[in-house]
Amino acid sequence: MKPDCLILRFGEMMLKGKNRKRFEHSVMIQIRKVLSSFPDIRYIPEFGRVYVELGGAAYEPTSAALQRVFGLASFSPAFHAPLELEAIQETALRMMQALPKQPATFKVTVRRVNKSFPHDSQQMNYLVGGYVLQAIPGLQVDVKKPEVELRVEIREDKVLLYVEVIAGAGGFPSGTSGKALLMLSGGIDSPVAGWLAMRKGLTMEAIHFHSYPYTSERAKDKVIELAHQLAGYTDSLKLHLVSFTEVQTSIHRAYQDNLLVTLIRRAMYRIAERVAEREGLSALVTGESLGQVASQTLPSLNVIGRVVTLPLLQPLMMMDKQEIIGLAENIGTFPISILPYEDCCSLFLPPSPSTNPNLRLVENLEESMDFLNDLIDKAVLGTETIEIVHGQLKKETNSHLF
Ligand code: ATP
Ligand code: MG
Repeated sequence: MKPDCLILRFGEMMLKGKNRKRFEHSVMIQIRKVLSSFPDIRYIPEFGRVYVELGGAAYEPTSAALQRVFGLASFSPAFHAPLELEAIQETALRMMQALPKQPATFKVTVRRVNKSFPHDSQQMNYLVGGYVLQAIPGLQVDVKKPEVELRVEIREDKVLLYVEVIAGAGGFPSGTSGKALLMLSGGIDSPVAGWLAMRKGLTMEAIHFHSYPYTSERAKDKVIELAHQLAGYTDSLKLHLVSFTEVQTSIHRAYQDNLLVTLIRRAMYRIAERVAEREGLSALVTGESLGQVASQTLPSLNVIGRVVTLPLLQPLMMMDKQEIIGLAENIGTFPISILPYEDCCSLFLPPSPSTNPNLRLVENLEESMDFLNDLIDKAVLGTETIEIVHGQLKKETNSHLF
């Protein structure tokens, strides 16, 4: 059966009044954008939801596109029937028979907006429910906890029926919470952190550190591919690529002991903050998860995080690896993340990185590295920026080196 229409419901409904209007307006802009390749679609807004008349558009691609819209709580594929009892009964039965898995229990809930329809909603519950019951052997009614709820809306001009409620991405609409810079590695975690930040309504740009020639072109391509995947949830994403080789090798030349990772990560954060400020972004988003590695113990997070003053948003901090992997699979970044890849952070690893770095010691070491500030300036200036547009790779937009 091919749905005629979709019923869209918005999320985070704690919002009231003006905020709610603005919220719905922003979600609708995004919905119209993701469905723009279906010109015959019509939108009919009603309080708290929107009816989308598909006008012949196929259900699968529209549903897949809608699942990428933040702020959309759920949606239902719905079927039209004329204002006639027999047609409503017949449509209800065909919908029940077309369910992927036959339920043991169901109930019918009828809402009659059109008061001139001859049967009221209570009568209709029986008339539609009874008709389905006698046609499907073994099916029972359960009004308290049915496996399937068949909803029938008797409207002025037609009847709408639906059974499925499909979860949307939820969260806040794109761009309603400000702008942030995602530190994007090629690993599993940071793309998920970026997606969670985007779902909270943050407009994201991303920054990636590479240590060419110690890390390969392919490693960079992989990050570009991850950025493409994330851009599928907004429209486009700016990706700043930083050559980190000189910073990393110079620190390593001056110091090789157990605080090396702390020093390198602090340099990375400093560069990221400078780029964020230059681009007008007000937070850094990273993929740290408490206790995962030596640099993610509480003392390490403290010493590393202190080097920046922008808010550090770390949405995975309290999540288990399995939960993170589950999300990575859902958002489509997992297969890209597990491609073979050498991370610039895994270069020059000391035999036992400190899990309990001392801030004073780290700061003293940094002071003794008189080359550090200049190299950080140089890395910031040399950032290469590419605009990642969903579905295509656009030209380089600027290079601050020239
Ligand atoms: P991920 O799976 O995201 O790589 P991880 O568990 O491997 O994370 P780390 O390597 O310690 O952890 O990195 C912690 C965070 O630092 C990453 O989640 C990411 O936000 C940032 N980061 C690490 N390497 C890079 C890089 N090369 N470029 C940009 N950001 C990075
Ligand atoms: Mg990593």
